Amino acid sequence: MHKEKLYGKTLNELIGVAKRLKLPGFAAKQIADWLYKKEILTIDEMTNLSKRMREILSVDYELGLSAPVNIAESSDGTKKYLYKILNDKYIETAYIPEKERATICVSSQSGCKMGCIFCMTGKQGFQGNLSSNEILNQFRSLPEFKSLTNMVYMGMGEPLDNISEVLKSLDILTGEWGYGWSPTRITVSTVGLKSSITEFLEKSRCHLAVSLHSPFDEERQKLMPIQRNNSIREVLEIIRNFDFNSQRRISFEYILFKGMNDTPAHIKELAKILNGIKCRMNIIRFHHIPDSEFVSPDMEATIRFREALNAKGILATIRTSRGEDIGAACGLLSTLEQNKPAKT
Ligand code: SF4
Repeated sequence: MHKEKLYGKTLNELIGVAKRLKLPGFAAKQIADWLYKKEILTIDEMTNLSKRMREILSVDYELGLSAPVNIAESSDGTKKYLYKILNDKYIETAYIPEKERATICVSSQSGCKMGCIFCMTGKQGFQGNLSSNEILNQFRSLPEFKSLTNMVYMGMGEPLDNISEVLKSLDILTGEWGYGWSPTRITVSTVGLKSSITEFLEKSRCHLAVSLHSPFDEERQKLMPIQRNNSIREVLEIIRNFDFNSQRRISFEYILFKGMNDTPAHIKELAKILNGIKCRMNIIRFHHIPDSEFVSPDMEATIRFREALNAKGILATIRTSRGEDIGAACGLLSTLEQNKPAKT
C-alpha cells in the first residue's frame, strides 16, 4: 500500500493528521520536532510518542526521506546530486561550498514549462511539480546537510509555478517549530510570474531574485517566452509598490550574452526600468548549451558592464560560475535522459 509521507508536512497539516488519527493534540508538535529538529529516519524513533501511537501512525504514513541516487563532483568542490522522485522521474540539486558558507540549490519542478532558450532545463520540457516533501528531501538528505548555511530555489523549474508546495517548504524551513532558519538565508528565484509573485511576497519573508536578462520587451521575449503574457514592466510595478523591509532583498539576475544584451543602450534602459527599486544585480556568465548561438563576453567586457551599471547607481556584482564541468552551473541542470521512459 502507498503510504503518505510525513516529512514535508507543515505543522497545520500535522495537526490535521493527529486529529484524523485521534492522537492527542500535543502529538502534532512532537512529530514536527522529530521531523525537523532531530535526525530520525523512521517513525519508530519518535520515542516520546507511545508505542501504540507510533503503530497507528505507521499504518498510513512513512517518514519519506530518500537519499540521492548519484553524485558528480566538480574540480571546484561543487557537487551535483541526482534524486529520484515520484513516477520514476529525476531531479538535480547542487551543493556549492565556499569559504564561509555552503549553499544548496534546490529544484522545485522536474523540468520546466517556461522554455527559456538559454537553459537546459527549459529544453527538457515539464515533467511535474515537486511536493514539499520532494523539495525538502533534497536539503535533508544531502550528505552535507549539517554544513548548509544558505538555500536558493534556483535549480530545475520555476518556483512560483509551484507556489503552494514552495510556500509549504519555506514555512517548514523558517517556522520556529520547523528548522527555524532566518528567511534571509533563503532566496527564491523567478522569471517573475505576476499571477503568484504577490502571494509569494505576502506569505513569505525570503529574498526574491527575478531573472531579467533584458530590459527590452521584444528581446526578453525571445530569450524568455513567458514575457509574451507576463510583461517584466508589470512585474516591476508590483515589486516597486511592495513594502520591502530592510532585511529583505530583491535582486535581478542578468545573464550576459555577447553582442546582444551587453550594450550601452541596455545599461541606460536598465537604469530606467529599475528606477525607484532598491535592488542589486547579479551578472551571470552564459554557460554554453548545445545548439545555442549565444556566447559569453570575456571577463574584461563583463567587468566593464558591471562598472557601467554601478556608475548608474545599480549595485551590480559578477557571480562566480561554479560546477560548470559537471553541468551544475546556472542553466545547465537537466534530467532529460533519466526522465525518458524506459525502453521495453
Ligand atoms: S531558466 Fe529557470 S524558468 Fe527558465 S527554463 Fe530554466 S529553469 Fe525554467
